Amino acid sequence: MAGIYIHIPFCASRCNYCDFYSTTMLSKRNDYVKAVLREWKENAHNWKNNIDTIYIGGGTPSMLDEIDLTLLINTILEDLPHTPKEITLEANPCDLTLDKLYCIKQTNINRLSIGIQSFNDSLLTFMGRRHNSFQAMTAITNAQNVGFENISIDLIYGIPNQTFNEWKQDIEQALLLRPQHISAYCLTYENGTKLNQLLLEGMIQPIEDTIENEMYDYLVNTLSKHNYLHYEVSNFALPSYESKHNSSYWTHTPYLGLGAGAHSYNNHIRWWNISDIDAYINTTHFSDVQQKEYLSLQDLRTERIMLGLRTKNGIAANEVDPKVVQKYLNLGYLTLNNQRICATLEGYHILNRIIEDLI
Ligand code: SF4
Repeated sequence: MAGIYIHIPFCASRCNYCDFYSTTMLSKRNDYVKAVLREWKENAHNWKNNIDTIYIGGGTPSMLDEIDLTLLINTILEDLPHTPKEITLEANPCDLTLDKLYCIKQTNINRLSIGIQSFNDSLLTFMGRRHNSFQAMTAITNAQNVGFENISIDLIYGIPNQTFNEWKQDIEQALLLRPQHISAYCLTYENGTKLNQLLLEGMIQPIEDTIENEMYDYLVNTLSKHNYLHYEVSNFALPSYESKHNSSYWTHTPYLGLGAGAHSYNNHIRWWNISDIDAYINTTHFSDVQQKEYLSLQDLRTERIMLGLRTKNGIAANEVDPKVVQKYLNLGYLTLNNQRICATLEGYHILNRIIEDLI
């Protein structure tokens, strides 16, 4: 089976930590959607019979108006022999009014991924988010009231000056709202972002590793107690609500990326579109302007280890050197069951080091 990823690179403003490809030129949304649909039509014949999931990410896809969103979804679905099991839309809490949610519900979108990040107003301001905690909570309850039964929220921890207690309160608030899925990421400082600039200028200090690890452990232990399955290093789901689309990335399932900067993968080849909205909109043959790379068997093995060890399914024991595995088994960072190797909670703290060693 296969998935479609659609990149909608529009945002009302730039968040202080974000290095994703996006633009605030909102007037181009309609032309952009038409270009995405041209790219779909160029590829539909090869992909339409295998599509199981669609993920509309960004940027801020919830900024598409009713006409563009409906056009986008309907045009693709009309070409598919069956409606995919999971169709996700990433959304900003500010956009999720009841009217907007009713409009989204009219399409076949059945999963929302809401960029909450925090329920703490001062941390939201620090990160440059355009919503506040009230809007965050209202967005989730509105979505539940409109009938969405598969809601994911994103949270961020490890923010400078964030206390352990503030992180605990964010998790408690999330649990009160009980979304089906929670993704929680530690704040990172990416080149070109405002936060990275502040870090380089010495205006902010990153949180200490020990506190970051304590926050992560608290997250994992608390969500597990509340019946969330920890199925990937940063992802937690109530039973049967794991993200089908994202899980396919971790197993080299083919996916077609549509939109500026979107990546695709099929049959040992990865290719990606130009990261320029104007150039993308003006493209007539998308395959002519894509870049591609061929993944060798060695590349695929490296990716299987990097991605697999992040998941609860781990990796096959015969992929890696048993001596290195034994070292980490003895230290309690890995487990070995039925010839599958998985990271323990302590192992997740040093996952990059373990992966480097195993590769
Ligand atoms: S974090 Fe999301 S909303 Fe903020 S700039 Fe990045 S893509 Fe846009």
